[in-house]
Amino acid sequence: MSKRYGLVIDLDRCTGCLTCVVACKMEHGWEHVSGIRVETVGGPRRDTPAGVHPNLSMHYLPISCMHCSQPPCIPACPTEAIGRREDGIVLIDANRCDGCQMCLDACPYDAIVYDAQNEKAWKCTLCAHRVDEGLVPFCGVCCEMDAMFFGDINDPAAKVSQYAPKRQAYVLKPELGTDPAVRYCPTQPRQE
Ligand code: SF4
Repeated sequence: MSKRYGLVIDLDRCTGCLTCVVACKMEHGWEHVSGIRVETVGGPRRDTPAGVHPNLSMHYLPISCMHCSQPPCIPACPTEAIGRREDGIVLIDANRCDGCQMCLDACPYDAIVYDAQNEKAWKCTLCAHRVDEGLVPFCGVCCEMDAMFFGDINDPAAKVSQYAPKRQAYVLKPELGTDPAVRYCPTQPRQE
């Protein structure tokens, strides 16, 4: 099976510290935008008995480009500026991008940002420039909690392949058929 790079993010470890957001800005030389954002997700706990004031729970959810195998952003681009490499990394070619922002509307994960200064679309590159040198994405290097793992999700021996099923990892919006390469390990129930 061919190589396919992706990320596994352990939500149980993520403390929402935003180090990944800052790391992305630093690595790509951005001041105001990042290829990754961290959302908060919360609500009543599933184990709250009916009729009882609900116990609330929340966790953090880092979201970047999912490097989908069926990415809606690619056919949406009228200048064919977005492509998928053989290793699965989806990239925007800034030389071809005319700044129309149609990809921003097409991405179901809101993963593409608009660089108003350069009038271009931009998103997480999975640090392809680092990957090509045998390094891992800078967000994963900087994660204080060791919550992000990078690797070949098609390699059964890779940590990302072994960790994800063990922790019943899931993808966002599976019903869309985009087949993301970013997998999330859910938070574990806490003992009261
Ligand atoms: Fe394209 Fe959005 Fe999928 Fe990334 S997450 S490959 S930008 S559709």
